Amino acid sequence: MDATHEILKRVWGYDSFRPLQPEAIACVLERRDSVVVLPTGGGKSVCFQLPALAMDGMAIIVSPLISLMKDQVDALRANGVGAASIHSMLTTQERREAAEGMTSGAIKLLYVSPERLAMADFIDYLKRFTISFVAIDEAHCISHWGHDFRPEYRALRGLKSHFPGIAVHAFTATATEPVRADIAEQLGLATPEIIVGDFDRPNLVFRVEKRADEFEQLRSVIDRHRGDSGIVYCISRKKVDDITAQLQGLGLKAAAYHAGMVDDARRHNQDAFIREDVDIIVATVAFGMGIDKSNVRYVVHLGMPKSLEHYQQECGRAGRDGLEAECCLFYTMSDFMVWKRMLGDENEEGGRVALKKLNDMLNFSNAATCRHRALIQYFGQTYARANCGACDRCLDEAEPMPGALELAQKILSCVARLGQMAGPSYTALVLAGSREQRVLDKGHDKLSTWGLLAAHPQDQIRDWIEQLAGQDHLVKTGEYDVLQVTPSGRAVLQGQETPRLLQAADTGKSGSGKSARKKSAGEKESWEGVDRALFDRLRALRKSMADERSVPAFVIFSDASLRDMARKRPATLGGFLLVHGVGRKKCEEMGEVFVEEIRQYCKATGLSPDVTPPPAPRPAAVPHAKTTNATARQAFQLFEMGRSVAEVAEGLGRAESTMYQYLEDYVRDRSLTDPHPWVDSELFARVRDAIAAVGDGALKPIFLRLNEEVPYSQIRIAIACLRNEESA
Ligand code: ADP
Ligand code: ZN
Repeated sequence: MDATHEILKRVWGYDSFRPLQPEAIACVLERRDSVVVLPTGGGKSVCFQLPALAMDGMAIIVSPLISLMKDQVDALRANGVGAASIHSMLTTQERREAAEGMTSGAIKLLYVSPERLAMADFIDYLKRFTISFVAIDEAHCISHWGHDFRPEYRALRGLKSHFPGIAVHAFTATATEPVRADIAEQLGLATPEIIVGDFDRPNLVFRVEKRADEFEQLRSVIDRHRGDSGIVYCISRKKVDDITAQLQGLGLKAAAYHAGMVDDARRHNQDAFIREDVDIIVATVAFGMGIDKSNVRYVVHLGMPKSLEHYQQECGRAGRDGLEAECCLFYTMSDFMVWKRMLGDENEEGGRVALKKLNDMLNFSNAATCRHRALIQYFGQTYARANCGACDRCLDEAEPMPGALELAQKILSCVARLGQMAGPSYTALVLAGSREQRVLDKGHDKLSTWGLLAAHPQDQIRDWIEQLAGQDHLVKTGEYDVLQVTPSGRAVLQGQETPRLLQAADTGKSGSGKSARKKSAGEKESWEGVDRALFDRLRALRKSMADERSVPAFVIFSDASLRDMARKRPATLGGFLLVHGVGRKKCEEMGEVFVEEIRQYCKATGLSPDVTPPPAPRPAAVPHAKTTNATARQAFQLFEMGRSVAEVAEGLGRAESTMYQYLEDYVRDRSLTDPHPWVDSELFARVRDAIAAVGDGALKPIFLRLNEEVPYSQIRIAIACLRNEESA
């Protein structure tokens, strides 16, 4: 075991690093400036906390909020690490203790606010100490390009001159390229190492449904998570208050949070949530920054956010501990209209961008395809799995419509008959056989496609239109979302391709249909072998110990640790040390109490303690591509025969871009490591070199590195082969 692994195990009780943690840690140890972009829950803190322990001197950690600093310091101390923070809320006593610890060298990590690093006195004071490095958390706050600019972060531009020769490391979960570049520039980093992680969060289960009886829908989620921590986001303050009152009326432990409340009340409710005195926080988007509670098991959106950036960030607060968590969005078209009205002028740059983002959010909600894939591609990364096993689409929760091909053909031919000049709502109106005046005026009731879908509700037809757009068979153009049939839509009309159409979620069925919910692979696995009753007892014990010490429950142990205890049921301290997340310090401090609880439970129930777990749990198997699509199957056969992409596209009458997508699936499905004949070997070698230099987290940097000479489609194929090579 090398030194870093040894520290990880001894201090944190973890057996292995998360992806890219070793790379990020190496940069810090070798004093190379870096920008590290990992998703929420990706384990950024360990990337700077661990090297701080291994290096001489004291690390300075910049953090934007006192609550964040406190949680991190509490968590470090619980693991026996010397850490302190300096901020305006400290008592004189605490301030003195911190100063003593710094002088004696006991403090390995010092948390400070960016404002403090703007004070000349404070900088002079720090210069007395040996500083190992500076790490900046939430580093995107320095950039105007981010969604969270904080003027006080500008003070950090002076760091490099105040502390010459000391490496600076920026950490953020904001992935966009301009923000990343801006962070490096603002901080004056010296050719920093840029480390970008995979933004997929496989443990999150995404479900999106039309909103109907919202309270019933919400209740069905909460019922699945009795006693767990969850966040419910509402668009308006009034909604927050209403929902909170209704939940409390049912005897549930819920509290409200929004910007209209007085500070004290808001803080009180936030603390209650963190300390697990309440299970549910009902909030506007004002809630969340500064919450690093790791065991949030569900996030519900009772309205559509205005962008996928917001959606991703809010959902990101679920499941930071890596255990399964559920993200449910209940939306209607009216959310879209509400936001649209609130957005700026569409004719201005800002307004156009905002509207585009809002449209993307709506398309995501309506799409009939994998949610994980859609999110990941939106953020510019490729998604490697054919079926995520963790979204409503891949778990097949919505009923697929029988006769989808015929339905789709009716819709597409109506779009064609309308001269490709009508929007989705009007098209649905005609298909439903409406006699509204505007339909009669235009003579559209005379069209052969009028009333073709009269047997279906208009909303449902509207929904199918969106689903067809989500699968690229239709495209919405111009200001009024005028529909046009795409080349792949024409393939559907010719019966060469069958789209997937789903029955719109009618709440009567899915809202209360708990039994219809399928468990994701992650959920099944993380509960594997866990004794639930014991888990509940250990959770109660955790709560009382947390209260005794006035720290949040997750500082004592994470949910992942409690489940592992309830799985292994250790009856000795030696056994306790083998539990996930139990380091030496926690074993010494809390082992006796927890082991005693476990012993008593085993005695009372007759269960045997000290279960030897089966060998390391297999990572959730990637479900095999269920290529139901006939065109894809034909394409696979042609690829098998070594046909070029152009030939296959021509032969099947489909766009080359779609064929490249199939080729990528094909390469993965067959685990090919050589892209010949689709990418020539010289190009393949160049892509390989480019990836060695800039990583394969995002396509753009690779593209730029190759002087924009290699098309994205080819880069994608090359990456798929390289990944196969790695996992071979
Ligand atoms: P981020 O700051 O990137 O959102 P955190 O640093 O808060 O993420 O880490 C999220 C959770 O994952 C924490 O509970 C942390 O202790 C845990 N964690 C970090 N690294 C590992 C690891 N290598 N193995 C298991 N758990 C880890
Ligand atoms: Zn999926």
